[in-house]
Amino acid sequence: MTRSGQQSEATVDTDLSAADEGTGRKKGQIRSVEEIQVLIRAWENYVHPRAKSFWQTSDVLYQILAQIARGVEKTADPVLGDDRCVIWQGMLHSEDKRPVIRMTKPGETVESQTYVNRVLVFLFADDDSFNELQEKPKKPFAMACGDSKCVNLTHIALDD
Ligand SMILES: [Zn+2]
Repeated sequence: MTRSGQQSEATVDTDLSAADEGTGRKKGQIRSVEEIQVLIRAWENYVHPRAKSFWQTSDVLYQILAQIARGVEKTADPVLGDDRCVIWQGMLHSEDKRPVIRMTKPGETVESQTYVNRVLVFLFADDDSFNELQEKPKKPFAMACGDSKCVNLTHIALDD
């Protein structure tokens, strides 16, 4: 799966990798509000235009990105991170236990459980990957790494 090729023009403070070394990888440790803002600013440069036009306000988009940022460990980045699995720490689907966030889809008034890896693809995939994945059933995508709780964008399987 390939990330959308948009390049960042802003100089973003990417000090996120500093905590990555050593033993700082405690399960369940999530980012502070400030760290989440920094991460979202970095992600926003890669959000595909399809997602920007889908949600009517950037505020809704921001809230979705924030939920994803809060759902992973402090040192993990499912979008711009390295090749390690990013294990979801957030909400799981009530039936199949796959990672979900709650969001209100355009035109709807109630929140529903939405699979994180489908949201990630919608937000960040390039057109080729996106179109290919749209052919698949409306279920969470398979993960190439085999870990059903992993939300690393690059681990989403294009082939079954
Ligand atoms: Zn993985």
